Amino acid sequence: MPSSRAHVVWTDRFFDYDFGPYHPFSERSRGLAAHLLESVTSASHPGVLGWSHTVEVASRPTLESFHQADYLEFVKQASGISREVSLDGGDTPAFRGCYDAAARIVQGAVDALDYTLEHRRPAFHPGGGLHHAHPDRASGFCIFNDVAIAVGRAVRSGHRVAYIDIDAHHGDGVMYGFYESGKVLDIDFHQDGRTLFPGTGFPHEVGRGDGAGLKANVPLPPRAGDEALLPIFHRVVPVLLRRFRPEVIILQHGVDGHYGDELAHLQYTPAAYAEVDRAVLALAHELTGGRLLVTGGGGYRAESVSRVLARVGFVLAGLAVPEPGSPLPAGYRNDFVTTFERDAPRTWSDVPVLDPSPWTESDERSLVGQLEGKLGERFPAR
Ligand SMILES: [Zn+2]
Repeated sequence: MPSSRAHVVWTDRFFDYDFGPYHPFSERSRGLAAHLLESVTSASHPGVLGWSHTVEVASRPTLESFHQADYLEFVKQASGISREVSLDGGDTPAFRGCYDAAARIVQGAVDALDYTLEHRRPAFHPGGGLHHAHPDRASGFCIFNDVAIAVGRAVRSGHRVAYIDIDAHHGDGVMYGFYESGKVLDIDFHQDGRTLFPGTGFPHEVGRGDGAGLKANVPLPPRAGDEALLPIFHRVVPVLLRRFRPEVIILQHGVDGHYGDELAHLQYTPAAYAEVDRAVLALAHELTGGRLLVTGGGGYRAESVSRVLARVGFVLAGLAVPEPGSPLPAGYRNDFVTTFERDAPRTWSDVPVLDPSPWTESDERSLVGQLEGKLGERFPAR
């Protein structure tokens, strides 16, 4: 039994997943988070986090557990040529070595999942959470769906899985991948699909067959923030999880809902992320004996992604998150400047600069009412 309280999977080989310098998705900001988390906790609380720094490329059978063989062959071919090919007809280009790079991120999710299933302690895969990829195609910067493969692996090993997704974009690859599964409860908070890619994730999408009533979609309007996310999260998530009784929780922790994100338009603050993280960890202790996998996800402003994802590791290890105004180490700041060629944040969080939110209590009543009607559930009053 390990003595650490939680485990992190990170290798700098994840930097191989690289669409080029002008593409919004970068594993570099996830890497800054992992390095920041490791440097600070290893100095202040040595041993509380265990680390895997070596991650292999996922095997073909692992990838085929979610993806179709002809799609894998297509990526393999595109991976070996240098001219530019789009994998999804849009903004997910192939690059030399993309097959292995994407398959290594998949293995990171597998390793983290296996860790938490075996040791009943939280596992964290900040480089993962590529929730848009479908069985037969890439989508939304996601070549292979590491987190869907982890969900499927947990199900095949006999577990009921609660998948929670707080990325600003709807986790369509995961939700539709398990739409008919009675073993997967899927709860997804995201910016309304009428205003953001991929355009899905509405309250009436509740699953089908054995999965009917097990998919909950919570769309929020642009500029909604903590005042929208947190009350609904606390009203809906514990009720659905306690009814479903998961044996493992998987949290896709995209950070593109953070205020100031370059691609999405929500306004969550670091305090809300920490509150969600603590709530999910408490539910894992209550319901799954500590089995919890947290992955990264979207996030297109490195200042937010690196600091928020680093704080996730503190919460999972049961440590107090760093005070907002406490200074960041010089090593992080130097890496940030070298990587992004702009000034680095100086402290763990900034004072949030927010636009007025359109969200009202009547919007909350209406959305919770829709969810109750579609899911056949009653949620507690605010
Ligand atoms: Zn996203």
